[in-house]
Amino acid sequence: MSKIEVPFPQSPVVPAMVEGGHSIQFSCHKGISCWNACCANIDISLTPYDIVRLKKHLGTSSTEFLREYTVPYEMEKDGIAGVKLRPVENGTACRFMKPEGCGVYEDRPTACRYYPVALLSMRKQDEFVDTQSYAMVKEEHCKGHEVARTLTIDAYREEQGLPEYDELARGWRQLVLKKKSTGPTIGALSLKSRQLFFMACYDVDTFRSFVESEAFGKLFAMSDDERTLVLGDDVELMQFSFRFLKQVLFGEQSIALNDEVAKVRLDKWRERQIEIEKEAAEKRAKLEEDMLNEGINEEDSGLAYCADESGNCGQG
Ligand code: SF4
Ligand code: SF4
Repeated sequence: MSKIEVPFPQSPVVPAMVEGGHSIQFSCHKGISCWNACCANIDISLTPYDIVRLKKHLGTSSTEFLREYTVPYEMEKDGIAGVKLRPVENGTACRFMKPEGCGVYEDRPTACRYYPVALLSMRKQDEFVDTQSYAMVKEEHCKGHEVARTLTIDAYREEQGLPEYDELARGWRQLVLKKKSTGPTIGALSLKSRQLFFMACYDVDTFRSFVESEAFGKLFAMSDDERTLVLGDDVELMQFSFRFLKQVLFGEQSIALNDEVAKVRLDKWRERQIEIEKEAAEKRAKLEEDMLNEGINEEDSGLAYCADESGNCGQG
């Protein structure tokens, strides 16, 4: 069990990371004195798969779901965005909370399923795979910790249907961790890239229109079978969006490019390199000409360069 840092002493997160085999004492059931207390004051981040499940449950589009039921937040300064459940108007309670319990129980989000366990997904800078650990959240109001039922975190995850949820959110978590761990090496994402990330990850119905567009078809070479599979199923489309983002944001190619478009892009890139070199040569020639006109020689100006390690100038 390794210690983790807790930034605020009042944090309900127990400062210890544990593995799936760790035993916990917990049970939540109707009739418990704290029934619904956890849903009365929410701070619930959603995964893309949570959104796919909830929008289907509510019979709405992802665009409408995002507008009506969520608020965006920044996962890191000027970085990629996440999405949280929007509580009731002027309050903190979940809009899906009913006296009898959760109104979307079969499709409740990952965070609700995990509670009172917190998932800690990590990826070290020099490693290619992410690892999962857990921490316990112990809040005063939750009496579930006092019920005499013991089970491992792995068994609790099974009971809550979490293996499926975690598996289908893996690609998204990898993207988030990749962005966070690469940080300054790939620099801040442009506004356009951040908007693309948001649309592709969370708004599956808008992403579908994007994949169906002529511009997308020109750039990416998908077989008819693959297009039918991806466009015909929200979960397939969501997973395709993770591959798409890995490719356009991090250069991990897994979707074939249309040969003709790829060639045009490469030619454009080469033309631009030639232009850059030409502009630089012209600037240098202009500078040299100006200095000659003003009677300054290259040694005085520092434009001459030393060609050998002794420091003797190659031009001497
Ligand atoms: S989605 Fe359901 S379980 Fe989650 S906070 Fe809302 S009412 Fe509670
Ligand atoms: S036991 Fe905990 S999780 Fe269950 S209703 Fe009470 S506060 Fe919520």
